[in-house]
Amino acid sequence: MKTGHYKQYSEHLIEKYGEKVYKLPVNLPGTCPNRDGTLGLGGCVFCDSKGSGFDCLPNTESIRQQLEENKVFFRRRFNAKKFIAYFQAFTNTYVPLERFQENILQAASVDDLVGISVSTRPDCVNDRYLDFLAEVKERQNLEINIELGLQTVNYRTLDRINRGHTLAEFVDAVLRVKRHGFETCVHLILNLPWDDMADVRENAKLLSALGVEYVKLHSLYVVRDTVLGDMFRKGEIGIISLDDYIERVAEFLVYLDPEMVIQRLVGKGPRADLLFSNWGISWWLVKQRIEEYLVNNDIHQGGKFDYLNGKAVRSLLPAD
Ligand code: SF4
Repeated sequence: MKTGHYKQYSEHLIEKYGEKVYKLPVNLPGTCPNRDGTLGLGGCVFCDSKGSGFDCLPNTESIRQQLEENKVFFRRRFNAKKFIAYFQAFTNTYVPLERFQENILQAASVDDLVGISVSTRPDCVNDRYLDFLAEVKERQNLEINIELGLQTVNYRTLDRINRGHTLAEFVDAVLRVKRHGFETCVHLILNLPWDDMADVRENAKLLSALGVEYVKLHSLYVVRDTVLGDMFRKGEIGIISLDDYIERVAEFLVYLDPEMVIQRLVGKGPRADLLFSNWGISWWLVKQRIEEYLVNNDIHQGGKFDYLNGKAVRSLLPAD
């Protein structure tokens, strides 16, 4: 469904690059400071052992191999010509600086790339890594995008889901990424069992205030053999209905800066070991239901984006 009610990523890429651009996932063997003992052992309560990197090629293949193989697939299937290398699974800046540099250089050597997207945690964003990315951007004319998992701005919920960082580290990371001239994409889950509508609005307001460029929304999925899975089976958490979730997404969008691009309105979730995902229907049906709700209720992204730049003094300003 085409809807002008929110800013869609695919359309944004066409506007920016003049044609469709496809993301090539890179899957590296790795871990995360929230799983290896540096910050904690269990990881986020919803994290499975794959580090949120499902849908990737095996991580035994080299970065170049993975990119080239994925490129062939996208070329054949969609006649694709431009690509973004997407370091997706685990925490891609949580490796020694030298190895990180090698990884990035290997990716940057692949033809037809317009950008590199690096997924990581807010507490793994460091100036030295960003300085190197700035050199690559300059030298090879590649757009750099840092993708940050946040999930919620509610720092009490961040503690309950065992993120291992608070809101302050996220704000610090975004400001650092901005100082280096890169774009930021933020992941949020709008139906964490401990959050309510006020948190949903604050998610939108904080991302807008920070000038984040992209957002990815996921609904909460529950995987077997995770802390969240145990809570779910024991009935310790409840998940809001699909109708309530749709209202949350709409409320989020209405408070969001209209210029922010929605990379994803709903996540797919892993294929195996699921206890709960997208209310038992496919992700595209959830997406369709959200879009229908926006259209039927005449809701537009940014409809209530009026709260920045000293809202209270606006009426006191002299006329231009
Ligand atoms: S930050 Fe990502 S990889 Fe690390 S524990 Fe959380 S979900 Fe898993």
